[in-house]
Amino acid sequence: MQNVVILGSTGSIGENTLDVIARHPDRYRVLALTCHRNTELLLRQVRAFSPRYVVVTDAAAAAGARRKLLALSPGIEVLEGLPGLCEVAAHPDADAVMAAIVGAAGLEPTLAAVVAGKRVLLANKESLVMSGPLFMRAVRDHGATLLPIDSEHNAIFQCMPPGYRGGLDGHGVARILLTASGGPFRLHSRAELELVTPAQAVAHPNWSMGQKISVDSATLMNKGLELIEACYLFDTTADRVEVVVHPQSIIHSMVEYIDGSVLAQLGNPDMRTPIAYGLAWPARIAAGVPSLDIIAAARLDFAAPDVERFPCLRLARTACEAGGTASAVLNAANEVAVEAFLAGRIGFLAIAELIERVMLRCESFEPVDIAAVKAADAEARAEARQLLQAVSA
Ligand code: NAD
Ligand code: MG
Repeated sequence: MQNVVILGSTGSIGENTLDVIARHPDRYRVLALTCHRNTELLLRQVRAFSPRYVVVTDAAAAAGARRKLLALSPGIEVLEGLPGLCEVAAHPDADAVMAAIVGAAGLEPTLAAVVAGKRVLLANKESLVMSGPLFMRAVRDHGATLLPIDSEHNAIFQCMPPGYRGGLDGHGVARILLTASGGPFRLHSRAELELVTPAQAVAHPNWSMGQKISVDSATLMNKGLELIEACYLFDTTADRVEVVVHPQSIIHSMVEYIDGSVLAQLGNPDMRTPIAYGLAWPARIAAGVPSLDIIAAARLDFAAPDVERFPCLRLARTACEAGGTASAVLNAANEVAVEAFLAGRIGFLAIAELIERVMLRCESFEPVDIAAVKAADAEARAEARQLLQAVSA
């Protein structure tokens, strides 16, 4: 029996994780659930899974829900804020931690799980993008087991040889082919992109996801973040990772070997597959995912991405090649830009423009610790907000 902590249980990945866990009550027990504000859903999850701990990070939401949580589940411990998240992430009784908080808010709790040497199921790509070298060093130093949940990285991991220990060359791997659906605006002209609304941007054709990652998928920033994520996870450089647009999202990524073999992982676009893989690795468990009807799928298309219409991918590649805090700056500027777009303050094309301007203003440096990463993140956010203010003034 494994005790699982789910950071961000009320999100799309969190809900999918609970769906898989509910299918295997003999294997997994929920130790802790966490949410930011959605305490209605958290209460329903507590009723169904009886965790020992819950964490509510928003102080007002925590105050409002504490009594209801205690009435529902008398022995439950209700923790608050970042200290609460870090406490459950590193809890001695936790065997596996699903890192499914969205954005930079996931950095410290995910690292707390890593430093405690846990089996970490990494959905929160932003934490790795922000702090790659420090994060991966902490994984090694503390003997954590890092399992990628992002479907592409999970696919790449599945296509690596048995006993894979990191890097490409030592395993006969030539390069990685990172697939992208291309998002809902794959065929839009720049003029059409100009008019895209938040409602259109959050409606992804193949995947059902949280708002932020849906917008990232529409700008291709998600693929840019995943390019950086792949470089850190598989200890390689951006020139060994090719992004391939594959609109059907049936192949989730590929690995090319030096003998010319290309291995791909296929499946229906359903996050329960990589989640089940992360929970049970190296074993396999049922995930509730329907069998892939490859005859109905009929064809698989591939194309090169267009970085003219989707400059976020180019910006991410630039940040990845620059190293240091450049990726943390890219990520922070993107979070502010996406928030402004969702609030109707800026247009779709202005997301990339804002990020590029912030990247030009913030000089990259080699961060010695997480405090330095957080400082770079804070500086980039301040620059982005200042630029936004200038736009709306
Ligand atoms: P979501 O918006 O649906 O859920 C986010 C979760 O984080 C919620 O539980 C929310 O309460 C919590 N949260 C939000 N802000 C917080 C804060 N400030 N402090 C603490 N908790 C906070 O997001 P999602 O789609 O589930 O994505 C979660 C992460 O997984 C993201 O990093 C995303 O990039 C990654 N991911 C998601 C998918 C997917 O299919 N949804 C696929 C691959 C990777
Ligand atoms: Mg992905």
